[in-house]
Order: sequence, then structure tokens, then C-alpha cells
Amino acid sequence: MRIVLSGPPGVGKGTQSHLLARTLKIPHISTGDLFRWHVANGSALGKAVKSHIDAGELVPGVITERVVAERLSSDDAATGFILDGFPRTHDQARVLDAILARRGDKVDHVIEFVLDNAELKSRLLARGRSDDTDDVIRNRLNVYEKEREAILGHYGPIVTQLDASGSVEEISERLHDTLGARVLQARGVGL
Ligand code: AMP
Repeated sequence: MRIVLSGPPGVGKGTQSHLLARTLKIPHISTGDLFRWHVANGSALGKAVKSHIDAGELVPGVITERVVAERLSSDDAATGFILDGFPRTHDQARVLDAILARRGDKVDHVIEFVLDNAELKSRLLARGRSDDTDDVIRNRLNVYEKEREAILGHYGPIVTQLDASGSVEEISERLHDTLGARVLQARGVGL
């Protein structure tokens, strides 16, 4: 199953991707995690992306797309994956579709996590990552809002919205129910 978890920063996509990946036995691929790994290791790629991450701006498309294409070509991602934080722009959605089309695949489900801004900010501030400061949070929320509609419009009927309020367990249960229903629907089973 090829799943995209979409939603604003701080909404809990990372935590839920991690849990869902364990359940479905498919990899959790987070572009943010991949970039942070490079920054921590001081690689050339890490040096190229650090200033963008620190400012809450998107890393340039060519870099991001190369990293994703490489990661998706690994054997463990051959039959399915959970993408977290990618695609973040309409262009990236088109690039993802093209990568998958080359191997006869497509995105099966897009789940958009929805939570109000006040709750998002308090989750981000509690997390306390280096890019979780007031100014950078505001910028990252704006960046998300700017491309949100284009991405959701691109995926249209395979998008489902998920209420991302409550505890980790509650959200996880809701996510399983949502995906279960989507899988049945995709197989033409009425609910
Ligand atoms: P995240 O961990 O998903 O919140 O991402 C942290 C930061 O990594 C973002 O604020 C961006 O600077 C960068 N980043 C992650 N994913 C992408 C992407 N798909 N396109 C561009 N930049 C990204």
C-alpha cells in the first residue's frame, strides 16, 4: 500500500507514520528525517539544506526530489511505503506520480491530518525541535497553507481528512478505521 500522510507541521504525522509503518510492515519515509540525518552527519547535502530547514522554508525541489527518488528505489519500498512530509508542493506531487508511474504504481491513499492552529502551535512548542521556534513555526504553517489546496486537488478522490485531535492512541485508532474503510471502498465493497 502506498500511502501519503499530509498535514501541517506538528499535527502528529511522524508519530502516526511510525506506528502505522510497524503495523503494515512497510517503511516510513520522512523527507524531514532524511534531511536532518544529513545535517547531523555534516554531508554536502546536509550543508545545502540546513539554512532552508532553519528558516522553515522548503528545501529546493531538485534536492528534495533526488532524495525521495533514491529512497523510493530501495528494495524495502518496492511494495509499499508511508510518505510523511512529501509531497509538499504540486510539483512534488507530479514528480512522485512520475516516479511511481515508471514502475507501474500510483499513490493509493492520501490522508490529510487536520487540527486547529492553536493546538498545532502548542504541540510544536512542546516538541522543541530547533526549527520549532515561534517565527519559524509561523513560516512553516504559511508554507503548508500555500500549497495545501493544490496538492489535495491533485489527488482528489483518494484524499480523506482525519481529525488529528486527541491522544496518540485515539488518532491511531481513527487512522486505522479510515484506512480500513478506504481499502474496502477501493475494492468496491460498499460500507
Ligand atoms: P518536517 O520534519 O516534515 O517538518 O520537515 C522539516 C523541514 O524539512 C521543513 O520545514 C523543510 O525545510 C524541509 N522539508 C521536509 N520535507 C520537505 C519537502 N517535501 N520539500 C521541501 N522541503 C522539505
